Amino acid sequence: MRANDPSSSAPKTKKAAVEQYIPIKNVKIHGNKNTGKERYKPGDQIYVRKVSGFFQKLRQRMNLVYFAFFLILPWLQFNGHQAVLFDISEQRFTLWNLTLWPQDLTLLAWFSILGAFLLFFVTTFVGRVWCGYMCPQTVWTFIFIWFEEKIEGTANQRRKLDKQALNRNKVIRKTLKHCAWLLFSLYTAMTFAGYFSPMQDLFIDVFTLDTSVMMAGILAFFTFATYGNAGWMRETVCLHMCPYARFQSAMFDKDTVTVAYDSKRGESRGARGRKQDHKAMGLGDCIDCNLCVEVCPTGIDIRNGLQYECINCGACVDACDGVMDKMDYEPGLIRYTTEHELQGNKVHLLRSKLVGYGVLLVIMSTMLVLEIVNRVPLSLDIIRDRTELAKENFNGDIENVFTLKILNMSQTDNTYKLSMKGIENTQWHGKQEVTVKAATVYTLPISLSVDPYELESFMTNITFTVEQIAPEGEAKIEQESRFFNKH
Ligand code: SF4
Ligand code: SF4
Repeated sequence: MRANDPSSSAPKTKKAAVEQYIPIKNVKIHGNKNTGKERYKPGDQIYVRKVSGFFQKLRQRMNLVYFAFFLILPWLQFNGHQAVLFDISEQRFTLWNLTLWPQDLTLLAWFSILGAFLLFFVTTFVGRVWCGYMCPQTVWTFIFIWFEEKIEGTANQRRKLDKQALNRNKVIRKTLKHCAWLLFSLYTAMTFAGYFSPMQDLFIDVFTLDTSVMMAGILAFFTFATYGNAGWMRETVCLHMCPYARFQSAMFDKDTVTVAYDSKRGESRGARGRKQDHKAMGLGDCIDCNLCVEVCPTGIDIRNGLQYECINCGACVDACDGVMDKMDYEPGLIRYTTEHELQGNKVHLLRSKLVGYGVLLVIMSTMLVLEIVNRVPLSLDIIRDRTELAKENFNGDIENVFTLKILNMSQTDNTYKLSMKGIENTQWHGKQEVTVKAATVYTLPISLSVDPYELESFMTNITFTVEQIAPEGEAKIEQESRFFNKH
């Protein structure tokens, strides 16, 4: 029936209108077809079952490398300083031999834009793999689940333990688990804080109980944030708090690689013996064992179709492949695939949206590299004497007073030569050569004087130049200012 078919009788209610024109498919979310039982209802505790397989090994190895980087990075030293330090109190970010200052805000903006486009590109290409493989929330949740398994046992044992009344075994296991979680959270918080405050001092201060009240507060906050997010909230963060989960669907298209269930092959699902000919029984390859749901960290049933809760972790792929192997069926009933491939259509891996993101990514990376290469690690602030714009000195010359602030943004002590151009025969009173320590500001008061006959107007534009002369370098900057005559 067509919506604009004049021969059709008009629906009386809104619900009737929807049912008349839009085909509705009832899906039983979190359900099992055989038992009809709901596996997980929203808000239920999810007992994630352990699974092994190719994607889980890949994820664990990536997580291990990622976690090792997180732990080791703030301990690394370079040229006598912490290699990676985002020092907020000193307003400078150090990345090996690069120190970024508030003056480098454009560079930081480039980093953020590049990160965003990288995420768009990856999401369009392979969906939410960031969530499944690299997101700290997922990595820490899996680490916390690992502690849980070691102390409380398998998913079934954990479920049983939670149902038990309070007893000695339960108290011991729960206490041990929460202590392990809290200690690990504290270590995470200390490592995280070490990216923003010198790591070695921080650890000495913590272990000698000599931290400032502010640092103690920061550590307490991040300890409980880690404990709460990875221990208690887990998938709730992904489902209800993460903004990326909400907008990622805007980047998806029918050629995006995601985890999906091949319903053509799997349905109709149902139990059968290993030796039975399921095709003759009118069954598809899905044996409805529910294993794909039991291993899912967000507790969803991928057989219900693509859902925003899916973090593309591949746990259900490994679980189902294991089942297929046992049943002697082809693997890949649940697999990383695209909607087009599932529908039997041609897959377009190189499509305009992806190419667009790719081209933008290359352009932005090039611009970022150019910006870093051409960056001059030197800055000059010129402050004029506000009390008196110009004065006449004892020679009858016109004198202007300035304060020059020279910021050495590099990691070495440098000597700079200073000069001025714009007015002929100007006299410079003050130092014209200064040595500025690494990452410090040198404040230099100077004055310029000139014969009034050299001045053609009340105000003349002048240019200060600061040039690095030792150690040999190419750092040179120019800054405009003005020279005023007397009224
Ligand atoms: S793991 Fe595979 S066979 Fe078992 S219910 Fe899930 S899709 Fe079906
Ligand atoms: S549905 Fe599969 S891929 Fe998606 S989150 Fe669950 S286990 Fe991971």
